[in-house]
Amino acid sequence: MSTIFVVEDEAEIRQLLVDYLAQAGHTVVAHERGDQALTDIRAQQPDLVLLDVMLPGIDGLEVCRQVREFSHVPIIFLTARHDEVDRIVGLRLGADDYVVKPFSPREVVARVEALLRRSQWQQAAPVSNDSSPLQLDSGSYQAYWQQQLLDLTPVEFRLLTMLSKHPGRVYSRDELINAAYDDHRIVSDRTVDSHIKNLRHKLQNAGADDVIQAVYGVGYRFVNGKNVNGNK
Ligand code: CA
Repeated sequence: MSTIFVVEDEAEIRQLLVDYLAQAGHTVVAHERGDQALTDIRAQQPDLVLLDVMLPGIDGLEVCRQVREFSHVPIIFLTARHDEVDRIVGLRLGADDYVVKPFSPREVVARVEALLRRSQWQQAAPVSNDSSPLQLDSGSYQAYWQQQLLDLTPVEFRLLTMLSKHPGRVYSRDELINAAYDDHRIVSDRTVDSHIKNLRHKLQNAGADDVIQAVYGVGYRFVNGKNVNGNK
């Protein structure tokens, strides 16, 4: 059984989520304000947080930013619009997933459970050991570059998995969107670009420069570790 925080100021939506998650067997704590939620996340360390963007006190983006300073708790944003997702991804706040309103509570519960499973696997995942600098563990959704954890979001993990399957092959943004989102949400090209940007940034931090290359007018390709930086 997991403890889930629902941070949402709209009473109807909040209650709906609380009811569905409780029915699914979780302990649910509801919050209306961003500032109080932040204090409680620090004090109670929930297993997952559903976080609305527009909140009284401090907004969801700021809550997420501050939580990431002390915790890796999975966070799913509840957003009002698709372009809000672009913004959240662009800000690199470290959210794990996004649900756009209006949503089906069943879908939210399914995503919560998928994310909880992944984060439990993460804690116990073995690292496989072959000669490639890139290691992908699809059970835990973890990726490693030369044994360094990349700490990817599920979407980034799926993008990297697809790109690295056939090094050198160019994937269009449409192909990448289909790989990254199993529910075929409407996602703009710009969102894919933001995810790729974040992914490259994380790879670079692990010493992998330029392994994902943009191909003008087409999409992206993965180039296998010829230019591995061995310093890290
Ligand atoms: Ca709100």
